[in-house]
Amino acid sequence: FLPHLVASLEQVEQSYIMIKPDGVQRGLVGDIISRFEKKGFKLIGLKIFQCPKELAEEHYKDLQSKPFFPKLIEYITSGPVVCMAWEGVGVVASARKLIGATNPLQAEPGTIRGDLAVQTGRNVVHGSDSPENGKREIALWFEEGELVPWTPVQEPWLRE
Ligand code: UDP
Ligand code: MG
Repeated sequence: FLPHLVASLEQVEQSYIMIKPDGVQRGLVGDIISRFEKKGFKLIGLKIFQCPKELAEEHYKDLQSKPFFPKLIEYITSGPVVCMAWEGVGVVASARKLIGATNPLQAEPGTIRGDLAVQTGRNVVHGSDSPENGKREIALWFEEGELVPWTPVQEPWLRE
């Protein structure tokens, strides 16, 4: 019995999900949004945005020392991205599963990367890796007034 795991599964969390420039250019925005929407998560922030270099560097600051960092920053700033904040029970881990492995060739079919991408450097979508980073990244990419609290009519049909 692992009480902390049970607790984390039942926690309402927020995840920062971003469709990267290749996903936007390839016309995958609707498909990707639809997967999170159909799963039952709640969209509380959404915008198309041309990311400045400084913001990309701050978002990926933990990867600063990696050899691929300069190309990653170039990729993320190469065209508009779609920024999203999604809320729900266990949304952080669940979104990571829906997104699939970092290397799309290793991502399972049925996942976004498994279905829609082939290369790590063009893997179409970002998802926060912890609830703490979810909060950090949403605060980084959105102004406070851009986040909208609301109650979907389907809520009683999603949660006991
Ligand atoms: N990335 C890359 N080459 C690598 C590893 C990562 O270009 O060898 C890029 C890729 O776009 C990835 C992002 O850097 O999505 C962030 O890496 P991370 O390990 O955090 O993967 P993620 O959390 O996105 O699955
Ligand atoms: Mg990551």
